[in-house]
Order: sequence, then C-alpha cells, then structure tokens
Amino acid sequence: MPEPRKSRLIPEVDFGRDGKQTGFIRLFHSTHDSAYGFLPIPIVVVKNGDGPTALFTSGNHGDEYEGQVALTNLIKWLTPERIQGRVIMMPMANYPAALVGRRVSPIDDLNMNRIFPGDPDGTVTRQIAHYIDSELIPLADLVIDLHSGGSSLNYIPTALAKQSADPVLYQKQLAALRAFGAPYTYIQGGAQGQGGDQTLGSGADRRGRISLGTELGGAGAVNVSGLAIAERGLRNLLVYLGILGQDHFVEPPAPTRFLDVRGPEMYVYAPENGIFEPLVDLGDMVTAGTPAARIHIPETPWLPPVEIAFKAAGIVMCKRIPARTKRGDCLFHLASDLVV
Ligand code: CA
Repeated sequence: MPEPRKSRLIPEVDFGRDGKQTGFIRLFHSTHDSAYGFLPIPIVVVKNGDGPTALFTSGNHGDEYEGQVALTNLIKWLTPERIQGRVIMMPMANYPAALVGRRVSPIDDLNMNRIFPGDPDGTVTRQIAHYIDSELIPLADLVIDLHSGGSSLNYIPTALAKQSADPVLYQKQLAALRAFGAPYTYIQGGAQGQGGDQTLGSGADRRGRISLGTELGGAGAVNVSGLAIAERGLRNLLVYLGILGQDHFVEPPAPTRFLDVRGPEMYVYAPENGIFEPLVDLGDMVTAGTPAARIHIPETPWLPPVEIAFKAAGIVMCKRIPARTKRGDCLFHLASDLVV
C-alpha cells in the first residue's frame, strides 16, 4: 500500500502547544514575480490544556465578509486563560480569493467549496482544501465554515447544516445549531448547486465531525445583523463544547426556527437572459404560483417580459443581487418549516 500523500503546506504554529499562537500556513508558490515565495494563509490557535477543539473557518469564498470580520474580532478576544481546550481559526481559508474579494481563486479560478477533499499535488486551491481536510479537520470536534451569499446573492442571516447520514452526529448538529442561535437554521440537501459532497462541511462530516455552516448575508457587503449573530453564535458554540464557561453563553432572543430547503422546487432559476426584476423581497412568505420575477429583454424591447412564479410555498431566504442575468442563474430560494 502506498503511503497517503501528505500536504506540502507548512504551518508556522504548533497545534499541540498551549498558549495563543498567531502566524501563517505557508504554501510555497513559485511565480515569475516571486521565485521562492510562499502564500501566507493566516491562522491562529488558542489552546489551554486538554479539552475539545473547535475549527472556525471563513473566507472559503473570498467575497463573503461577515465571517471574516467575526473571526478577526474573536481572534483578538480569545485568550488561553478564557478557555479549556483549543480553538483554531482560519479567517481567510482561501487566502488568494479572500485577498482580492472574489468567490474563486485568481490563481487557478477554482471555487474551494467545490473541490474537497482537495489534492496535495494539485493547484493552489486544491492544496489548501487538502490541507484543511487532512490536517485541520482531524484535529477538531466541531467545524463551522462561515459563509454568506457572496457578490451574486443575498441571504436572510441564517445558520445551516447538511444533515449528517450518521443519526448520532445529526442530533449533535441540531444541538450545536440551537446553541449557535441564529433566528433561522436550514437543513440542506446535497443537490441544487450547494456543493454536494465537495464542500468543506462535507469533508468535516465524512470525518465524523460536527459540521455546521452559515449564510450571514451577502451582496459583497457586511450585514450588520448577520455579523452580530455570528459573534454571539461562535461564543455560544464554544460554550456548547465546554471550551468557554457557561457565563459566556448569550441567550438568543428566540429559539432558532428550523427550515428545510431540500427539494428542487424550492429554487427559482432565470428562464431567459435579460434584466432581473424581483417581485418579492427577502423574508416574504410566498405560495406556489406567487409571481417571483420578470426578466426583461431590452435587446428586443417589443417582446413582453418573461414572468416566472414560485413552485412551492415558503419564506424567501435568498435572492440574486445583479440585475443582468443569464438563463440558469439562481434568482431565489425558499425554505419551509421543518420539524426536527
Ligand atoms: Ca458561500
């Protein structure tokens, strides 16, 4: 049997050492401009003695900012004296993409959340995914990968999980999501462009870790309420794990409302190229048949707009941002109440 191929990335921090360490994971990347240089992927580990480990990531998509701000704040607040166990934080998980504020990497054009478990001998994004999957996730009891809608989508701030096939792990996902305490939490299927089994979260689930995610806002901006939900939620997760003491738990204003987006009928896609006129807003309640959008066609302005309706009932969770739209673009998705 050949040995499993090892990551070539080199962390400047020692994950086994007590204390607070800040530094970079070095990904050596030899280019025309920098023959012997490395990409410095920021990482912070705070550890105090034995106990559980939480792995918090953001910037997997580089144009999603609430998670990056929440972790940047948490990094400054967390001290070894405050905790029992270990917290590993990686706010710019796909560093090259986060540096330029883009969903995909400017180096290899890859979407990191569609290539897990990565490849130690692949291009830059595949190497980062492989490092997270093979080196960081195995250290963790719980992983949360903080997302938002990015440049092209906007979300009602929400937590989420892809339901683990392991029923014990699924119950732990639900308990952790209740502790996180977002106003909404949706349970994801693997279809509909959500990344299937190629996401960071799927990698964590495959390794038997409690795997959670978020959609904290989007539109290429910082959603202030989404940021506040993330800051409270991350501390509450550390309390849930026993890493922070109970006195740090902040009760959410209301228990999280569990929602379901597993059916393909929850999604609305553009049927034509043109200009997207939304007819509903985030948070609206709709039923099957409610008009969702018109697509106007100024190239042939004498043609009527194409109108498209929702195919199911639910709350509008996600909405496309750019007006100029191509056939096949996701315009909306809904979520419906879920009994868990
Ligand atoms: Ca995302």
